[in-house]
Amino acid sequence: MEVYKFGGASVFNAAAIKNMAGIIRATAPEKLLVVVSAIGKTTNKLEELAYAYINGEERATTILEEVKTAHFQIIEELFDNPTQPVINEIANTFVEIEWLLEEEANDSAEYIYDQIVSVGELLSTRIVAAYLQQDGVKAVWVDARNYIKTDNSYREGIVDWEETKSGIVQDLAPLLQTSVVVTQGFIGGTSENFTTTLGREGSDYSAAIFCSCLDARALTIWKDVPGVLNADPKWFDQTQMIPQLSYHDAIELTYYGATVIHPKTIKPLQNKNIPLYVRSFIEPEGAGTVIDQQTSPLPVPSFIFKVDQVLISILPKDFSFIIEENLSHIFNLFHQHKVKVNTMLNSALSFSVSVDQDKDKISQLIQALSADYKVKYNEGLELVTIRYYNQDTINRVSTNKNILLEVKSRNTCQMVMKDKSASE
Ligand code: ASP
Ligand code: MG
Repeated sequence: MEVYKFGGASVFNAAAIKNMAGIIRATAPEKLLVVVSAIGKTTNKLEELAYAYINGEERATTILEEVKTAHFQIIEELFDNPTQPVINEIANTFVEIEWLLEEEANDSAEYIYDQIVSVGELLSTRIVAAYLQQDGVKAVWVDARNYIKTDNSYREGIVDWEETKSGIVQDLAPLLQTSVVVTQGFIGGTSENFTTTLGREGSDYSAAIFCSCLDARALTIWKDVPGVLNADPKWFDQTQMIPQLSYHDAIELTYYGATVIHPKTIKPLQNKNIPLYVRSFIEPEGAGTVIDQQTSPLPVPSFIFKVDQVLISILPKDFSFIIEENLSHIFNLFHQHKVKVNTMLNSALSFSVSVDQDKDKISQLIQALSADYKVKYNEGLELVTIRYYNQDTINRVSTNKNILLEVKSRNTCQMVMKDKSASE
């Protein structure tokens, strides 16, 4: 059996859903489980809705109306029969949010977020499953919350692998003998059946979990790019497709911020030696990229850009060295404030890190650090990571930039930079 994952862009309107069904009809292996994300940018909208509701803003109902209209518009374009049961299913799903919005927001923000934001995937999969059925595919809709079992860390559910595996093997393996199973990415359920989410862009991870539990032969992630590129076309004109990538390089690239695959996706696949194909839903004939256990290094240098970085330099107040003790204290503060370190460098008297900008979080962290250290920081920076770098590639990305921090290992070079014009 195999698993396909379709992201929001691959189902963003009626035509895209038809295209997706075409891919399934043309390429599906005998047994297939399909993981689908929310339609287009629905998750962002629902996020907005959740915050509006939590803050008691009227806007919540307007946003809900927008989400509703967008989904019913797609349904109207996809289905010939006005009594299609999917119309009721979708209406009922919306009613549940409406009921929620009528109550006051008394639960924790994280919990509320998950109950609202998870609806995007419930909607998209209902529509996709019904459309596949109309299109002659024997598809069944499955609620992932009954199978991806997590703890109650809302917004970042930690998977209970044993529970998850036993449910999937018991119910889904037999179902796959006769049907294409359509289910949600991104969402899970606690042992008490509350809805959780796995973190933004987590559908890839869901797909990898299903693969691992079902010992899938392969995972294919269908995207709007021809495969894994050596840089994000958003930042780079001349990108190259990488036909084959090792699990190791894939993990490194996603760790440094490549957004092509969710960082948690690779480990479950690598552990079971399941290959991951990244292919284009626009040109499904293309071979795409395969990520597997082969070990040859990347054929071309790869670039990862992160903007909106803050470089924080931490110095002892009394000229003492930065040693293990201080470092462990410093890391603890980062951990407590949930700030992820993108790159770091330490010397005798200073420790510097680059982190993503997040005004509230960072100012609280800086305040906490300032109790024991002298803290300097610099905002509005870019972090560039080059895997398999050489001097030429370094020069290319650092033209007209001031390099504030540079960290090199054998294969990877990271630079925190500022536009020369901006620093003058
Ligand atoms: N729909 C979710 C998000 O946008 C999950 C995903 O797309 O992978 O974050
Ligand atoms: Mg997505």
